[in-house]
Amino acid sequence: MNAITMRQTLDTIAEMFPDARCELNHRNPFELLIAVLLSAQCTDETVNKVTASLFDKYKKPEDYLKVPLEELENDIRRIGLFRNKSANIQKLCRILLDKYGGEVPREHEALTELPGVGRKTANVVVSNAFDVPAIAVDTHVERVSKRLGAAKQGDSVLEVEKKLMRLVPRDEWTITHHRLIFFGRYHCKAQNPQCEVCPLLDRCKEGKARMKAALGKPRPKKQKGARQLESS
Ligand code: SF4
Repeated sequence: MNAITMRQTLDTIAEMFPDARCELNHRNPFELLIAVLLSAQCTDETVNKVTASLFDKYKKPEDYLKVPLEELENDIRRIGLFRNKSANIQKLCRILLDKYGGEVPREHEALTELPGVGRKTANVVVSNAFDVPAIAVDTHVERVSKRLGAAKQGDSVLEVEKKLMRLVPRDEWTITHHRLIFFGRYHCKAQNPQCEVCPLLDRCKEGKARMKAALGKPRPKKQKGARQLESS
């Protein structure tokens, strides 16, 4: 995909989702860090349900260290991989207190050194909490980037991120991340993308192939009983 096509694509998606934003509820960088860590392999909706009470009980890194691990596990047990995530949260809080005075570091590299925090989480935190442009590539961003031809099917997550960074103006990286997530979550869904009403169908190979396949599908055979009824 070239920059002109990407520009048109971004503008179309911006029109479709003018209010795209981070859907994980948080009030400060620390809460955002915890919410993003919890969101791995879990929906934002479930994370928001859990953090609604979690963030009242645990406000600072000290609070997560005051309780036994089992208590924290119990508080987040509705979230997938809750045992692993609980252990990482406590380790992460210890490091925040020992190395960063209880604050979330602003540097991407420092963030990725924290337990349970990978490149994607660090990108979400720096861009949403500290206004540093970044494109976090989650499952939606990866899927729609490949479907739209901004990246190749076999590209790794990092390659997708680098290609998007080349195609999207730097000051639009963060909002593009949100818009692509909304586009993937609510329109170009993994199982049932809405190709038949998609304004990008004209320039989407994947969508055209899907439409062609749908048109070429044989109609389901009528059951014997149904035929008999018709002819009677
Ligand atoms: S045409 Fe279909 S596959 Fe292509 S972007 Fe639109 S919804 Fe997604």
